[in-house]
Amino acid sequence: MNIHEYQAKTLLEKYGVAVPRGIAAMSVEEAVKAAESLPGPLYVVKSQIHAGGRGAGHFTDKPSGKGGVRLCKSAEEVRDAAQAMLGNILVTKQTGAGGKEVQRLYVTDGVDIQKEYYCSVVMDRATSRVTFMVSTEGGMDIEDVAEKTPEKIIRVGIDPATGMMPFHARKLAFGLALSGDALKSATRFFMALYKAFVDLDAAIVEINPMIVTDKNDVMALDAKMTFDDNALFRQKDVAAMRDESEEDEKERQAHEYDLSYVALDGNIGCMVNGAGLAMATMDIIKLYGGEPANFLDVGGGATTEKVTAAFKIILSDKNVKGILVNIFGGIMRCDVIADGIVAAARDVSLDVPLVVRLEGTNVDQGKEILAKSGLPIIAADDLADAARKIVDATGKAQAA
Ligand code: GDP
Ligand code: MG
Repeated sequence: MNIHEYQAKTLLEKYGVAVPRGIAAMSVEEAVKAAESLPGPLYVVKSQIHAGGRGAGHFTDKPSGKGGVRLCKSAEEVRDAAQAMLGNILVTKQTGAGGKEVQRLYVTDGVDIQKEYYCSVVMDRATSRVTFMVSTEGGMDIEDVAEKTPEKIIRVGIDPATGMMPFHARKLAFGLALSGDALKSATRFFMALYKAFVDLDAAIVEINPMIVTDKNDVMALDAKMTFDDNALFRQKDVAAMRDESEEDEKERQAHEYDLSYVALDGNIGCMVNGAGLAMATMDIIKLYGGEPANFLDVGGGATTEKVTAAFKIILSDKNVKGILVNIFGGIMRCDVIADGIVAAARDVSLDVPLVVRLEGTNVDQGKEILAKSGLPIIAADDLADAARKIVDATGKAQAA
């Protein structure tokens, strides 16, 4: 689960991570009020959406205008900035071309920056350790830094047996060539960040930029936090920060039916059982020149209701021009799956090509049910055959 920058900063501040003062605002008036209660003379109005790159982004109503993070010198400028942002669509490198509507703002104290750095805390699966990554290349996409100048990224893994020790923090600060007060401030910053990460069951904390101010204080100027969904049951404060309007409606519904669903950009809807098979299905669709519209794992115990819900979710994606069902009946029986597919296809009055590949227990009965259903289902023998057929069928569907 993701949260907004202002929420992340509120959480981090409680752990002693320094952040500029700021107030969230849901309206232009609130934004102006917020500015009036800050000391000034510099204010920053920040669009709150679940995507980065806001500063360099643009609003769809003014493509050549300013982005989603604006420095302002008066409450009047804050008013103008808030007006330009609220209710408008912000497009950034991370939102996709459709952009995201700005519904909340964060008005912060403008800080004098001496230098910007990059800092993130992630779970490194290769070492099974909470790992810090810092770089002197602040404000830049870490992916770009990793590709072009990987030597500029300093990584420090934390042994869970000891937790974060002051020497870990110093190693990071030395890596950024900090000294004096900035070094001391950075050490405190990293220690606090680690505690927040662990205590809050975070999956990612990204501070980009982390800054050293003109007074040699280290601060988080931006903050992005992602949490481990499996831990939300014991993180009630975090769970309460969920902003459903930022989440994909299809992903939200899938969550309700306990389906693992991730929306993608292609036009071939996929319904598969098992995460591995779902990945393999997406791969083979691409191999045959198609693009998957989603990742969807219906899981081991797919009932008719689940299959129907999955169909509805797939079809609510307007880009979907065909569906590929790829089920391996292990514990599941293929005849049960076939019944589910037929019932679901009737229920949603399916109007796009449907290719079904079944394999495993009771596969012959399953195929017979599909064949006798009278539905225009295209049966496939194996994975390659299925991929070829759905790519072919959607290609035709698009040409038509
Ligand atoms: P992002 O574009 O979504 O990553 O949003 P950020 O919060 O990182 O802001 C983008 C950029 O705006 C930062 O990299 C800074 O250069 C600038 N910025 C944000 N807040 C301040 C501030 O308080 N003072 C100054 N001088 N610049 C700021
Ligand atoms: Mg940023």
